[in-house]
Amino acid sequence: MLRGNVAAPSRIRPAPSADPLDRRVRRAWLFLAAALATLGGLLLVAVVLPGPGLAAAALLALAAAAAAAALVRRSVEQREARRREEVENFARILQGFSRAVSPDAIVDAIMGELGPGTEADHLVVVHRRPGAPILDATLVPTRPGAPAASTVLPAVDLDAGGPSAAGVAVGPGRPVPLDAAERAAERIAVRVRRAFGLTNVLAAPLVAHGELLGAIVISRRRAGPWPAPSRRLLAAAAAEASAALARTATHRAAEEAATTDALTGLPNRRYFEEYVRLLGRGRRADDAIGVLMVDIDLFKVLNDRHGHAVGDVVLRAVARTIAAAVRDVDVPARIGGEEFVVLLRNPSPAIAVEVGERIRAAVERIDLSEVGVDRVTVSVGATVGEGGTERVADLVVSADRALYRAKRFGRNRVEAS
Ligand code: GH3
Ligand code: MG
Ligand code: MG
Repeated sequence: MLRGNVAAPSRIRPAPSADPLDRRVRRAWLFLAAALATLGGLLLVAVVLPGPGLAAAALLALAAAAAAAALVRRSVEQREARRREEVENFARILQGFSRAVSPDAIVDAIMGELGPGTEADHLVVVHRRPGAPILDATLVPTRPGAPAASTVLPAVDLDAGGPSAAGVAVGPGRPVPLDAAERAAERIAVRVRRAFGLTNVLAAPLVAHGELLGAIVISRRRAGPWPAPSRRLLAAAAAEASAALARTATHRAAEEAATTDALTGLPNRRYFEEYVRLLGRGRRADDAIGVLMVDIDLFKVLNDRHGHAVGDVVLRAVARTIAAAVRDVDVPARIGGEEFVVLLRNPSPAIAVEVGERIRAAVERIDLSEVGVDRVTVSVGATVGEGGTERVADLVVSADRALYRAKRFGRNRVEAS
């Protein structure tokens, strides 16, 4: 038996009276109308049958009408304040999404901004791990100080038909219908509730380019239906997060087709590989090639502490620093999340280490106080192929091994192999 309820917010269309503040405004108006009607009646009677008792009753009715008018005003003001708050919450969420350039940053924005407006105790973002048949589920409490948690769930829940229905597999090119997406979100919510031991959950699907990517699940300990503003905010946030995810997917596709990394402006992996291929063809027997692998130290910790938007600022600063530290004939590229490579033309092993050291020292000196980061460091692995015949791919493997040693020996250092 399932405790608590699971609902998709956009399916439930609350009647106008569902909002308690709306009901309060309507009650206050009714009270005012009744008081005014009584007053009118009394005045009418007073005209026909004047008497002292009637005057007192009329005064009483007048006082009741004044009190009712004050009540109307107060409840209207309360309702307006609540609507303003809702709009502000939503604007804040939108702002978070508009700055997000990667799926991770979007998840971060949901985590950071959705909590306060929804009256949720916990927030769970579930999203498909690229290239794997599993979903990452991350739970954060909305109250500061309480611990976060994460787990993985089977991706079968993203199947639009669900395990028990006539399964229509969802995938690129086969847009998922809205109600199927909502059913999938509900299935994910049930699993999330069991996995984290939650009580009362509400879920909304994340869909980009017709593909179901995951869900946002909010939870609270209090039983009973969720307030209408929470439902509205969750549905709107999920729709905006979906649009933001679709934007990053488009962006990624365009980037893959291009040769420049959009975040840092450096050549990307595709360019690097193409360059290496051409280099292999035109290389002379005595051409030496150096490879530096540069990897930001403990970047995950930095992202976790300061958020992905700051992480992106740091990535750009490191990229600029690397580009500035090498000569024009050398080729720096961003080949992974926080991984860079530099191809050095005709260096000796000593020079390769020297350039690596120059990069390491320059990165350590970057002033990131503006974004609240103390310092950032990189580890570097250096390799030189002097024979003119080594495959660059093998040199990259060798530089990667040296980089691994630099990490193991304490980071913020250069190792050669
Ligand atoms: P190590 O010193 O061992 O390299 O630790 P690390 O934390 O740097 O290494 P790890 O590979 O565990 O983490 C890399 C992190 O880089 C995880 C990922 O969230 C982050 N990352 C990858 N791409 C981006 C990006 O485009 N923007 C931001 N902000 N972070 C990114
Ligand atoms: Mg790293
Ligand atoms: Mg790395």
